Amino acid sequence: MRGIRLFKVFGVSVYIHTTFLILPVLFYFTAGIKGALVIIFVFSCVTAHELFHSLTAKAFGVQVGDITLYPIGGVASINSFPEKPSQELLIALAGPAFNIIFSAVLFYPLYRILGPEVLYNPSLRTWPHTFAYMFWVNPMLAAFNLLPAFPMDGGRVLRAFLAGRVGLRRATQIAVVIGHFFALLFGLIGIMNRNFMLIIIAIFIYIAASNEAFQVELRESIMDHFRENKDEQ
Ligand SMILES: [Zn+2]
Repeated sequence: MRGIRLFKVFGVSVYIHTTFLILPVLFYFTAGIKGALVIIFVFSCVTAHELFHSLTAKAFGVQVGDITLYPIGGVASINSFPEKPSQELLIALAGPAFNIIFSAVLFYPLYRILGPEVLYNPSLRTWPHTFAYMFWVNPMLAAFNLLPAFPMDGGRVLRAFLAGRVGLRRATQIAVVIGHFFALLFGLIGIMNRNFMLIIIAIFIYIAASNEAFQVELRESIMDHFRENKDEQ
């Protein structure tokens, strides 16, 4: 189930999963209108991030599917694999590039308007502090997504680097192991701090990393099969 379709842009449909709808409501009741606004802003940035991946993939002739927004983030489905590791590298970097460029553009005007005192102390106390909070969303998204672990973009960057040296299969295995390591680390920090959101993110990372390993393994097995058949002929 994909949920509700929000809009379609450059041939890519953006869906919102129904479970996502609880988030703005939850934040409204815990943090008021500022909380709801921050959540909507976060997911607008996540959507733009995913769109940058999809459109870069499209530019390389890779078939792209829809984007679905889940409560823990966006997922852009890519239906085929890019041919070259260098293409996967650029597709992976396109998402964080949006977050970095957007925050770079916002930084100076916000610095002038809010002043360093407010900008460096984001919170939901006042409206200026809330805008500071919203500013830090993009640097945080870039940093989180560049962690060198599957399923984050950084994991794909790492795999693209390794794939040229040790092959796609081995490169994926290494990135998946690092992904599992980060998942366990986040899970542990989440349990220690009783941060429920972090525990959910940890579970998501763990499952997604395993899923990526499975998909690559499956694809490589099929490719092996074809290669064997070719040799036999
Ligand atoms: Zn991404």
